[in-house]
Amino acid sequence: MKIIIGGIAHETNTFSNVKTDEESFRLWGWELGEEIVAQNRKVRNFIGGMIDRAEELKIDIIPTFSTFAYPAGIITAATYASLINELISQINKAEGYDAIVLSLHGAGVSECSEDLEGSILKEVRSVVGYDIPIIITLDLHANMTKTMVEEATLILGNHLYPHTDSYEIGREAVEYAQKIVEDGLQPTMHLTTLPMIIPTSTTNLSPANDVNHLCYNWESDDHVIDCTFYHAFPYTNISELGVAVLATTINDPNLAKQAADEVAAYVWEQRDNFLIKHPSPKEGIALAIQHEGLPVVINETSDNPGGGTPGDGTYLLKALLDEQAEKSCFGFIYDPEVVDLAFKAGVGSWIVVELGGKTDELHGDSIPLTAYIKSLTDGKFVQSSPMGRGAHVNLGRSVRLQCNNVDIIVCSVKAQTLDEQIFLLHGIDVATYKIVGLKSSQHFRAGFEPISSKIITVDSPGLTTLDFTSFDYTNLNTEVYPLQQVKASS
Ligand SMILES: [Zn+2]
Repeated sequence: MKIIIGGIAHETNTFSNVKTDEESFRLWGWELGEEIVAQNRKVRNFIGGMIDRAEELKIDIIPTFSTFAYPAGIITAATYASLINELISQINKAEGYDAIVLSLHGAGVSECSEDLEGSILKEVRSVVGYDIPIIITLDLHANMTKTMVEEATLILGNHLYPHTDSYEIGREAVEYAQKIVEDGLQPTMHLTTLPMIIPTSTTNLSPANDVNHLCYNWESDDHVIDCTFYHAFPYTNISELGVAVLATTINDPNLAKQAADEVAAYVWEQRDNFLIKHPSPKEGIALAIQHEGLPVVINETSDNPGGGTPGDGTYLLKALLDEQAEKSCFGFIYDPEVVDLAFKAGVGSWIVVELGGKTDELHGDSIPLTAYIKSLTDGKFVQSSPMGRGAHVNLGRSVRLQCNNVDIIVCSVKAQTLDEQIFLLHGIDVATYKIVGLKSSQHFRAGFEPISSKIITVDSPGLTTLDFTSFDYTNLNTEVYPLQQVKASS
């Protein structure tokens, strides 16, 4: 048996003023052919799982095209054309394959389409037809559409947030590809969507954790292949936005509908419980200081580059500097200009800079700072978080500054903080710090829950704030809970 593997992944925050172009895909990974295998074998991501399982099952792999860009604004039309061209031309070169297994995201939006993944699937179908099974993996934050369900043979998605299960799902995708090809397995999917959005909700806690248990109950039925609660990506101004449940059975449409509807009904019942009010940065710091034990991790959920924000927001960092709390560190803020100045000045010198707050008006003002340069690094390390462990990360040249009792790491590439590696790279042992500030919504939990005494989530204005009332959802074609402003303008 022979399978094609590949992937195109992007989570698009349509409220961002930073468009996603080909350069940003190339920055994060634009792999062709065997390079995909070399870069992802044994890495705990979707494609790593696909490769490892295929090799174990002696399934031949035809690696085609795999790319990923960090979440940001809408994908330009020219970029979309390049992505499709690269994938389709690689598929056209392939011969003798029995199935296609792709790692997509589910919340991509391009200037050509609100539904990036539905469009990719249609393009692939237009060249391979409907006799070849197409199995796709999706992120838990997918905005599920009917088109995806119609065009894919089987869809498998993350159950966990932090997404520590991507590798296992990649493996499962290959196992099902084999069952479909060799045993004639017929997956039947049913999608139930709900007119509601939820703030980022870790599945480590209720209510998302309770929903997962309902899904697991259904999955314990021998006729159910999969039951997944998709949280959707709420920072998207599209017509059909909302959480969804996708249930898949072995050729039993009624059972699939029953499972999806039952889980969706429970999610709807729980809708108020997803809305949690979080403290401001200043309030969060006060709570951290009161807490006995260390370290207290404070995550700035409103500027989470993993959700398409600038990563140079200053609300939490400014509050830490104002507080001058003993033993605080912040890792990290994106500001390539400041990094450049620090490299020119050198370790052991002082610089006067305006830090952060440069991408837009939403994430706080630049901070005027006179800081000591403690260390300079290349920003490269290997990810240790259970999510994506083994991946090679390159945050570009980076610097550790010191000011007002705060150790501040500044990087040249924007990203959310998933584990302590960027701190270790700069000689910071987070276990000895009282407060550890970072930018992430939930993924950091996989790396930091085991080593932190307490976690406090703080919210402020930003492109991933948990306060949805700050966004203009002008394209919705139906009322969506909990938004007040609902009517489409067109
Ligand atoms: Zn996600």
